[in-house]
Amino acid sequence: MKRVEKDYIKKMADLLKAGATMLSISCPVDKVPLFKLKTGEVICPICGTRFYIVKDEAEHAAATVSIALESLERTVISKITQLDGTLRALNADTVSKDMLESLKLWLEILEKIRGLRKSSFGK
Ligand SMILES: [Zn+2]
Repeated sequence: MKRVEKDYIKKMADLLKAGATMLSISCPVDKVPLFKLKTGEVICPICGTRFYIVKDEAEHAAATVSIALESLERTVISKITQLDGTLRALNADTVSKDMLESLKLWLEILEKIRGLRKSSFGK
């Protein structure tokens, strides 16, 4: 058995004894499972690197939401532009209530999206 492997097994045993849990995520360098300590820290038992799994996932999730909201905003704006074109071609007295209702809803959705994007949720 290589020295590194021996050290790893010893460290792993020590970590487990100390109440750490083995994660399904591996260290990209050593290809061994990471451990989550009781303190919440995530470390590699071989190189000792600290990982910020939860933070990364949260950031990843936030980024995904942000991208989705951005895309939604573009879609909503394109619908409003379409409606604007239709409205412009019509006389005021031929504009249907449905169209106005639709425009109002699109604007409400746009407002909501912009509100979410401004909040921490969309960042
Ligand atoms: Zn490592």
